[in-house]
Amino acid sequence: MTSTISHWINNKGYPGTSSATAPVTNPATGKVTGEVALANVEDARAVIDAAAAAFPAWRDTSLAKRVQILFAFRELLNARKGELAEIVTSEHGKVVSDALGEVSRGLEVVEFACGIPHLLKGGFTENASSKVDVFSIRQPLGPIGIISPFNFPAMVPMWFFPVAIAAGNTVVLKPSEKDPSAAIWMAELWAEAGLPAGVFNVLQGDKVAVDELLENKSVKSISFVGSTPIAQYVYSTGTANGKRVQALGGAKNHAIVLPDADLDLAADAMVNAGFGSAGERCMAISACVAVGDIADELVAKIAERAKTIVTGDGTRNSDMGPLVTQAHRDKVASYVDAGEADNATLVLDGRTVSPDGEDGGFWLGPTLIDNVTTDMSVYTDEIFGPVLAVLRVDTYDEALELINANPYGNGTAIFTNDGGAARRFQNEVEVGMIGINVPIPVPMAYYSFGGWKNSLFGDTHAHGMEGVHFFTRGKAVTSRWLDPSHGGLNLGFPQNA
Ligand code: NAD
Repeated sequence: MTSTISHWINNKGYPGTSSATAPVTNPATGKVTGEVALANVEDARAVIDAAAAAFPAWRDTSLAKRVQILFAFRELLNARKGELAEIVTSEHGKVVSDALGEVSRGLEVVEFACGIPHLLKGGFTENASSKVDVFSIRQPLGPIGIISPFNFPAMVPMWFFPVAIAAGNTVVLKPSEKDPSAAIWMAELWAEAGLPAGVFNVLQGDKVAVDELLENKSVKSISFVGSTPIAQYVYSTGTANGKRVQALGGAKNHAIVLPDADLDLAADAMVNAGFGSAGERCMAISACVAVGDIADELVAKIAERAKTIVTGDGTRNSDMGPLVTQAHRDKVASYVDAGEADNATLVLDGRTVSPDGEDGGFWLGPTLIDNVTTDMSVYTDEIFGPVLAVLRVDTYDEALELINANPYGNGTAIFTNDGGAARRFQNEVEVGMIGINVPIPVPMAYYSFGGWKNSLFGDTHAHGMEGVHFFTRGKAVTSRWLDPSHGGLNLGFPQNA
């Protein structure tokens, strides 16, 4: 039995008019579990129109009422997050505990957005000029678009929609066609929480749906997360159409291990951050930079731990699930082939893994490749799989230079017990999110998430105050209430007095 996964408009499913669909598979079995609708332009317009129609009333809904609905959504999500985690595992493949982790990080943004009355408070200056007051307000944009990637079908949409909705916008979410069911589950939850029809909508599809979101005049902003080439395309097309765009792209995250680091803790961190979610995290560590003479010992410790990882079905007691599709699995494996051909040292080969799961699953075990150099494709490309490359350098400066020369700048980490070195690193490294002895430095909801260089196009990161600013427009009001002293004609430019 396969299910049909359709769009969502006005708090109910909407089948659309297009007959095009794409298969959705369970990566742990390789079996097709559903067919997701692929919108045509008319379907996309119908979803956007629903968001546009709901905007005036939602914009005028009091902050008190909006917050009540957000709290209701938070309570429901917290009580039923296990259901969402299971849906994520069934279409993405990550193990259920990891899926629960992603839902919990999304929940934190919902909790942040519950504070929207405080976050939207403007400034007020009394008597800026004689009997003239000036104040600032922030207002919602209108219908906003969110285009999300396959690797966090719950958390990435939640980086954006809680803040957008709290601020008074209406939403069209275009999830990845690889794992589209989480979006529909969250839409149902919003309806249950009492969100008015049309405020949160889901548009299923591919490039056709994305292009309509980028071009449709009703859509005021785009929040995109995905690979760098598409992020670049979305940013240039969206901004050319007059929209506000934040487009988060791909990553190649390095971790530097200095000679004074605790190598056991560093090895634990490399394994967790390199192989968690089968490396399909934008904040995964994919390049470990060993500084000085610790490399042999560090590689041995990483290998010893990585060998204990159980690769298997995420609903069983596995540590690491399959990759998202067979095509992606094969592409990742081809990078291992290339590393071998380039004479890097294959310490652990995931191509020969024996998984705890069905034969049809998209399996690849943890892979550790040592003596990687910067000209190898295993280093230059974002692999997005369970492949950890080790590069060996002699000094901190060489390690820093390597990171700063990389075109990506999403996350990075340093492992050391030297506070001075760590402080220097946080100051000198050209990357958006830094971990000091923390391997996956995803900022809290009240800070903002985003990289530098080819990892983010636009100037605004996700959630935190940057998110509040992204989803609102500022107004400054200068006001004077009639007073006899203001009478008389004066055609001169108003002067402060
Ligand atoms: P992707 O770029 O293939 O897809 C992202 C979204 O864009 C999907 O909704 C997809 O339907 C749409 N899309 C795909 N091709 C398109 C096209 N030609 N035109 C218009 N839209 C298109 O990314 P993915 O494979 O789903 O996700 C993995 C990528 O996302 C990795 O590169 C990863 O680093 C990145 N990512 C980045 C962050 C971050 O915060 N920087 C977070 C998560 C994932």
